[in-house]
Amino acid sequence: MKKEFIQKQKEKLEKNKKALQEELSSFAEKNPRIKGDWKSRFPEFDGSETGGSRLEVASDEVEEYLSRLPIEHSLELKLRDTNLALKKIKTGKYGKCGKCSKNIDQNRLEVCPEARFCAKCHPNSNE
Ligand SMILES: [Zn+2]
Repeated sequence: MKKEFIQKQKEKLEKNKKALQEELSSFAEKNPRIKGDWKSRFPEFDGSETGGSRLEVASDEVEEYLSRLPIEHSLELKLRDTNLALKKIKTGKYGKCGKCSKNIDQNRLEVCPEARFCAKCHPNSNE
């Protein structure tokens, strides 16, 4: 893999990392006990927007909280993979599939710089 390509990927990954962290911190907080884990904040609505009763507001809060969890989870995973990819760049292992250790297709890496597996080994792959 070309040095320039990896450098480009590194810049992309660092940009993604920052964006992911910003997005996560808008509704979640870092878990101080578990590295890389984030916790969604429980939203507190004051009800002024909906004019609802305390009970309605509370159920809105629960709904909002529950809707955040899957978003938090997927952002968290993406951030984890992004950090992992940056680590692999440091150790010179970037671009290798975590399963079969073949080189991951460059086009695939362009679209998804944090890819951990080649198209064949990717868990969501239909092939
Ligand atoms: Zn593979």
